[in-house]
Amino acid sequence: MPSQTYPQLNNKPVAKKVRNIYKERIKQFLSEGPYKLFNLPAVLDDARISDEEYVRLEVYSVPDLKRPHFKEAIKGTFRPARKGESFGPSWSTHWFRIHVRVPRKAVWLDNKQLEFHWDNHNEGLVYNTEGLPLQGLTGDDERPVWPIPNEWKNGEWHTFYIEASCNGMFGNGDRDQIQPPDPNRWFVLSYADLVAPCHDARALYLDFGIIADAAIQLDQDSWESNVALKVCNDVMNVFDPEDKSTLKKCREFTKSYLGDAIDSPEVYESGQKTFVYAIGHCHIDTAWLWPYAETRRKTARSWASQLALIRQYPEHRFACSQAQQYKWLKEEYPDLFEEIKKEVKNGKFNFIGGSWVENDTNMPSGEALVRQMLLGQRFFESNFGERSVTYWLPDTFGYSPQVPQVCRGAGMSRFLTQKLSWNNINNFPNSTFNWVALDGSQVLCHMPPADTYTSRVEFSEVSNSLRNHKNLEQDQTGLLVFGIGDGGGGPTAPMLEKLRRYRGLSDTVGLLPRVKMGHTADEYFDHLEKSTSEGKDLVTWVGELYFELHRGTYTTQSDIKKGNRESEVLLHDIEYLSTLASLYSSHFKYPKERIDELWEIVCLNQFHDVLPGSAIEMVYDDARELYAEVAKKGAKLVKEAAEALGLSEEPTTNSEIIAVNTLPWPRQEILAVPSSAVADGKSLSQKLADNSQSQYVVMESAGSGLSKPIQGFKATAESAATVIESKPGVFVLENKKLKVTIEGGVITSLWDKEEDREVLTKGGKANQFVIFDDKPLYFQAWDTEVYSLDQRRYLSGAKVHIGETGPLRASVIVELKISDNSWLKSTISVDACIPPSSSVKGGEPITTLSYVDITTEVEWRENHKFLKVEFPVDVHSDVASYETQFGLIKRPTHFNTSWDVAKFEVCCHKWADLSEVTYGVTIMNDSKYGFATHGNIQRLSLLRSPKAPDGHADMGHHVMKYAILPHKGTVNSEIIRAAYNYNYPVRTYFGPKKTIQSTEDILSSVSIDDSTNIILSNIKRGEDDEDTSLGDLPVKSGKSVYLRVYDSMGGRTKATISTTLPVKKVCWSNLLEDEKEELEFETVKINKKNVTKIPICLRAFEVSTVKIQLA
Ligand SMILES: [Zn+2]
Repeated sequence: MPSQTYPQLNNKPVAKKVRNIYKERIKQFLSEGPYKLFNLPAVLDDARISDEEYVRLEVYSVPDLKRPHFKEAIKGTFRPARKGESFGPSWSTHWFRIHVRVPRKAVWLDNKQLEFHWDNHNEGLVYNTEGLPLQGLTGDDERPVWPIPNEWKNGEWHTFYIEASCNGMFGNGDRDQIQPPDPNRWFVLSYADLVAPCHDARALYLDFGIIADAAIQLDQDSWESNVALKVCNDVMNVFDPEDKSTLKKCREFTKSYLGDAIDSPEVYESGQKTFVYAIGHCHIDTAWLWPYAETRRKTARSWASQLALIRQYPEHRFACSQAQQYKWLKEEYPDLFEEIKKEVKNGKFNFIGGSWVENDTNMPSGEALVRQMLLGQRFFESNFGERSVTYWLPDTFGYSPQVPQVCRGAGMSRFLTQKLSWNNINNFPNSTFNWVALDGSQVLCHMPPADTYTSRVEFSEVSNSLRNHKNLEQDQTGLLVFGIGDGGGGPTAPMLEKLRRYRGLSDTVGLLPRVKMGHTADEYFDHLEKSTSEGKDLVTWVGELYFELHRGTYTTQSDIKKGNRESEVLLHDIEYLSTLASLYSSHFKYPKERIDELWEIVCLNQFHDVLPGSAIEMVYDDARELYAEVAKKGAKLVKEAAEALGLSEEPTTNSEIIAVNTLPWPRQEILAVPSSAVADGKSLSQKLADNSQSQYVVMESAGSGLSKPIQGFKATAESAATVIESKPGVFVLENKKLKVTIEGGVITSLWDKEEDREVLTKGGKANQFVIFDDKPLYFQAWDTEVYSLDQRRYLSGAKVHIGETGPLRASVIVELKISDNSWLKSTISVDACIPPSSSVKGGEPITTLSYVDITTEVEWRENHKFLKVEFPVDVHSDVASYETQFGLIKRPTHFNTSWDVAKFEVCCHKWADLSEVTYGVTIMNDSKYGFATHGNIQRLSLLRSPKAPDGHADMGHHVMKYAILPHKGTVNSEIIRAAYNYNYPVRTYFGPKKTIQSTEDILSSVSIDDSTNIILSNIKRGEDDEDTSLGDLPVKSGKSVYLRVYDSMGGRTKATISTTLPVKKVCWSNLLEDEKEELEFETVKINKKNVTKIPICLRAFEVSTVKIQLA
C-alpha cells in the first residue's frame, strides 16, 4: 500500500554525493591543519593550564650520564625548571619533581578524570613520592598522558616525580635511527600541563577515526563503506565547536555504525564467532640502539604502564617474554615486581617465551640453546610457580632446524614468530603450521598474519589478520600482537579503546574480522590445537626457517662471535671439571651460583641484536667487558676445579707436564709447552720459531682425561712435517698424508698422498682472500646483498716466507696488503703424522685425519668491504653440509630456484663440508659463523665493515683460525670429532707423579662406547641436588650427574654409556631435568674397577639427557 503522505510535488533538489570529494572532506575533521579551530581538535580539552600557580617544576640533572635509582636521585640538588627548556646531552638523566594543584572551579572539579600531559620528546617514568613507578611516558605524543588521582581535587598541592632519560624510544640515532648515536642531542620540554579533558570529544575522536578508515579502506562498492562515509559526513554537519552539546548527537551517529556497547568491555560479549585474537605485547630489545643499562629502565617504564592499563581495562591481557628482564626488574624495582606477580596470578600479566632472552637461534651452540631455556624456565617457575608453554621469538633473524626439538625438551609445544615476513626474496607460505625439527619433533607455529609484533591497532592490521592469513583452509583465526615495541612501550589506552570499536563495528555492520580480547596468547594456542585436531590438520614445514635477509649477522662484530664461541667452550670445561671435582674431592663444592652467573652472561649476549652484530658501539663495549668477565671468572673456576683434582698450573716437585682433554674421546695434539717441562729429552719436541722458552710436543690421551707427551718416539722422514722452497717463490709443506704447494701467497695444490688425488680444482687457488663490495640496501650491520657477490677483488702481491720448519710443525707465512690501512698475515701449517702410541692403540682409535691449519691475523680498517677466504675444491655435489646445534643441515650449492638463491650466505658452526660419496673437504673454524658453498667453491666469511649502527664495527686487530680437512668418503663422525678438537684445546697442567693415575681415573669417569656418532656434549651436576641447590626450586635428594647426548650424523643409533661413577639409578630426563623413564644398567668389574654400562638408543639427530643418580 503506497504511503498516503508521500508528497506529490518536489521543489527541493537533493544531490547525489560526489564520493571522492566527500571522502577527502572527512580527513579534515581530525586534522590539525588550517581548519583546526572548526573541527574536533579544537574541543579535545575542557581546560588546560601550566602556569606556576598550578604547576611547578624542579629538576635535578644527574651528572656523568649516571642512572641513579629513585632513593638516590631524590637526594640530588633540584633547581626550578620550566616548560620550553632543553635537557641533554644524549643518555643523560633528569629527575623532575613536579607539584600540581587542581583549580577549585567546576570545569576541573566536575571532570571524571583529570590528566597530566608531559612531552619531553624522550622517555620518562612517573613515580609517586614513595618511589613506586606508576607509568611510563613517551615523547612525541606517543604516551603523553598520566591520569592523576581523583583525590587531588582537594585544592592542595600534590607532588610526584618524572625520571626523564635523554634518548628516544629508538636511542639517539643521528638523523636516521640506525645511524650511530649523536652524543649531543637535547630534548625540549614541550609541555607539562594539567588538563581537564573533554571525554566526549576524545571518544568521538576515536569513533570517527575508525569509521573514516572504514569509508576509505573497505571495498568501495560495499554498502558498509558507503554508509561509513555518510556517517562521517553527518557527524561533520552536526558538529559545532562552539556548542559541545552537539558531541552527544555526533556520537549517536557514530554508534549507529559502531554499536552501543563500545564504551565498555561488554562489547566483547556478543557471543559471535571470533577471528582475531588481540594480545597486548611490548617488544623490548634487551640491547640495540641503547645499552643494557637503559633496557633495565625501559622494562620498568613499559611494564608499569601495562599494570596501570590492566587496572583500567579489565579485558587487557599483556604478554611479555625474556626472563632476564624480569630478573632485572626484581633486582632494581622490587615493589613493581611484586605488583606484576599479583597480576600474573590474576592471569592478566602473562610471562611467555621460556628463554633467558629472545635469543638468536643461528649461532648459539646446542648447549647454549638448552641453557636459554633452562635459565628462563627456572626463573619463571621459581618466581611465578609455572613454566611457559610457548616459545616467543617474533624478531629473531632466522630459526635453527633444532629449535622445535629444544622447545619440546624444555616443556614448550608452541612457537610464535613473525620475522620471516621480512624475507626479501620469497614469500613464506604459512601462517599457522607445524614446524618440524631435524629429529622430527614438532611445535605448533603461528606467525601473526598482520605481519607485525608491534601493531598500533590500525584498521588495515585488523583486516589483514584474516585477509593475509595463508592457512585459512585449516583455521580462520589470527593473533594480533599489539603495542608499541622494539624500544619498549606496549599498548596504550587509545589502542584498547580502538579495539572495542573494531569489535563493535564487526558486530554492527560486519566486513571487518571480529576481534576478541580477554584471552592470553596461550589460550589462543589452546584454540588452535582444538580447531585443528591437535595440529593434525595443519600443513608442515620441515627444517630450518631460513630468514631471507640479515645474512650479514653471521659475520658482523667478529670479536663478539669469538667471545661467544670461547665462552661456550670454557663453560663446557668448567662444568666437566667441576662436576668430577665435586664428586671426588670432599673440599670442593660445585660452584653452581658462579656457573649460573657466567651462563646468564653468555645467554644475555646471545640476544638477537647483540650476538648478530646489529647493535650500537656502546652495546659492544659492554658485551666485550662481559666476555672478559666470563674469561676471567671462568679461568678461576677451571683453576679451582683442576686444583681440587690435584692439578696445578705451575710445576711442583716431582710433577710432570700433562694436559687435560675435556672431550670424551682419545686425541693427539701438537702443543706448545714450556721447554723446562720437557727437559728430560725423552719426548719428541721442536723449538718454537719465535720463542725459545717453549717447545712443541705431541700430547696424547686415551679418552677424556689426561694427555701426556708421547715419549721414546723419534720423527722419521716419513712421519715429520717439512717445508722447503722448491723454486724461488714456491713453497712446499708436507707430511705423511698431505703435500701443500704455495705459490704467490695462495695454495695452488693440495695433494692427498693416501688417496692419490688433487683436492683443489684445476688452477684453483685456496686460502685465496677476496674483498667484496658490501653496500646493502639499508640495514648495514644486518645485511649483505646478493649483488655484493658481483663486485669482488682477489688480494694479491703477497710476501711469503717460511715459518716453523718441523719436524712436528712446519709452516709458511703469507703477508698481504689489503689497502693503505689494512693488512693480513696468514700462517699455513701442517703437523707431523705421529702414529698413536701403544697405550692408545688397544682402545678406541685416535682420529688420524690430517689438515692444513691456517691462522690469519688481520688489521682491518675498511669501509663497506667484506673479507672472505675461498677454497675451490675438486668435489661436485648439489648439497653441502653445515654443522648446526646437535646435528647438521644440508643446503643447496646451486641456484635452481629463488629459494636456493636466497641461501647465498648461510650459518654454520664449527665446520662446513662439501662431499661426494667418495671424497670431500671440510672447512673447520674456531670462531666463524658465515659460510657459502657456490658450486665447488667453499667460502668462509671473515670480516665486514658496516658503519651503522656501530660506526666502528670490526675495526681493529683480529686473529682467526680455520683449517682445510680433506677426507675420504662423506662427512662422518671422525670429522665431527676433529672439529670439536679444533675448538676445545687441551689444557696444560702439572700433576704430581704419585697421584696422576688417580686423577686420570677420575677424569675418564664417563665415556660413550659402541658408537662414534653419538656425542656426549656436556656433563653437569643436577640443578637441585642437595649440595648444589640455590634454594630457588625444591631440592631433590642425593647427588646427580646429567649427561647431554645427541646423534650427530642423523641415524638411529645404539651406544653404551660407561661410567665408573657409583650409580644408584639412571633415567632419561628432559632438558629441564625432570625425570622421565628409567634406564636399565649393569655394573661389572673391569680391571678391579666397578664400571656401569648403560645402553641407550637415540633416533636420528635426537638430543637427550641422561640423569645418573649417584649412590
Ligand atoms: Zn627485537
